[in-house]
Amino acid sequence: MALNLAEPALLRTQNLIDDQWRDAGLGARLPVSDPATGEAFASVPDSDAGDARLAVDAAAAAFPAWSRRTARERAQLIKRWHALILQHQEDLARIISTEQGKPLKEARGEVQYGASYVEWFAEEATRICGDIVAEAVPGRKLLVLKEPVGVVAAITPWNFPLAMIARKIAPALAAGCTVVAKPAEDTPLTALALAWLAQQAGIPAGVLNMVTASREHTPGVVDAWLLDSRVRKITFTGSTPVGKHLARESAATLKKLSLELGGNAPFIVFEDADLDAAVDGLMASKFRNGGQTCVCPNRVYVHEAVHDDFVERLAQRVGALHVGPATEEAAQIGPMINARAVDKIARHVEDAVARGARVVTGGKRVRTEDGPHYYAPTVLVDATPAMELSCEETFGPVAPIFRFRDEAEVIRDANDTPFGLAAYFYSNDVRRIWRVAQALETGMVGINEGAIAAEAAPFGGVKESGYGREGSRHGLDDYMHTKYLCQGQLG
Ligand code: NAP
Repeated sequence: MALNLAEPALLRTQNLIDDQWRDAGLGARLPVSDPATGEAFASVPDSDAGDARLAVDAAAAAFPAWSRRTARERAQLIKRWHALILQHQEDLARIISTEQGKPLKEARGEVQYGASYVEWFAEEATRICGDIVAEAVPGRKLLVLKEPVGVVAAITPWNFPLAMIARKIAPALAAGCTVVAKPAEDTPLTALALAWLAQQAGIPAGVLNMVTASREHTPGVVDAWLLDSRVRKITFTGSTPVGKHLARESAATLKKLSLELGGNAPFIVFEDADLDAAVDGLMASKFRNGGQTCVCPNRVYVHEAVHDDFVERLAQRVGALHVGPATEEAAQIGPMINARAVDKIARHVEDAVARGARVVTGGKRVRTEDGPHYYAPTVLVDATPAMELSCEETFGPVAPIFRFRDEAEVIRDANDTPFGLAAYFYSNDVRRIWRVAQALETGMVGINEGAIAAEAAPFGGVKESGYGREGSRHGLDDYMHTKYLCQGQLG
């Protein structure tokens, strides 16, 4: 597969450490594969703990000067980075689409979405404020400063190769931190392209360092950062088991942590909902990125009074989705990320059918001209809590419908999960809207809305979906600590 870019220099295949593009110390390489076929089309360094430590050396050396720059100077550099990201939107979208399988139209949207966080945090940098507190004792002044935590390690998943890393690096740089970052094995090229653009924007040497690694070498790279007391914060987006591992291991040096972990989002359609709006919302939230997002509805609860009508309208829309190579303009559902992902989706559907679910549309693997890693957009009815897909993220284009009778029952079922990232519901009853929004145990709730993420809003979960917030005016807090100054003898 050829990746034709208007700016060929965006295709970086080395680590960025201390402003130098370098191979891994031991020279190992990691193939980057087309998700549709599993065939390699590029390679990047397969780094190890030695490379990870070099990256921290650079970030630690760069921290004093970067953190002392004025907020306005940092903001100007981050804004330049933002402008370059948008200038190269089409090339970045092609890289995302090629290595991750995201349909091109959505990939363009991801570039804009990721860039919106970069712009937001460039602006927030200039609004970092402390407090002057009323003194309790005469002759004293009490002041509260916000300071950058230091070197930040950012570890990101494959499903949003640009947005996830942009919304970590931008607030870290805005706060005055320096960064070592490791993208997912499946999608290193988008992250390296972003790092190249940061370099072109004039972000100084050592402020942003990026190393790539295979699934096999990743624990070695990340353990080197966990053990290094110079790394003061870990910001992670990915699965809950890995998030728990990071929380346990970072305890030795008590690092600050932000964990954006897995979800199991409920999507509830009450009997008083606008059904067309609910179908639109489910199409937007469930089938984006082929169902491979942490905030995708995993369980769709529909009131029995509107169940059949809703399912009919939904199945028509789902059956019409165009499955095909991600880089084709017409594609709405691209390939899944790899063979393991397709196997998991097929296993969930088989398990559901064996336990009594019925396939309304889809329910099978699809082989297109360019490869085998596709799954047909699927609607299942008669789903129950006994099925695997009700407890675990399916991470694919499968909407299982659960029938319910009353509000108390559906809230109990929606909350019956260790996860608490996003929830959605559709209702036109204003009292119910407030009751249900408060009862749902999640960090985010979409009310008559399926697309909830925005740079101005705090993104994050509760329970085993993690802690910390990305975006909004709260997003910088995770990268700063609070210092209290008490000056006496002023009376
Ligand atoms: P993952 O396996 O946890 O991987 C995420 C990152 O962690 C990757 O960079 C991965 O590197 C690295 N990693 C894997 N094992 C590690 C270990 N033992 N020590 C240190 N790092 C390790 O998750 P994924 O499958 O890529 O992503 C899907 C998950 O992310 C889903 O659960 C989804 O819900 C969640 N997610 C959450 C959010 C959110 O905002 N809450 C957003 C997007 C995705 P390798 O790629 O090299 O294995």
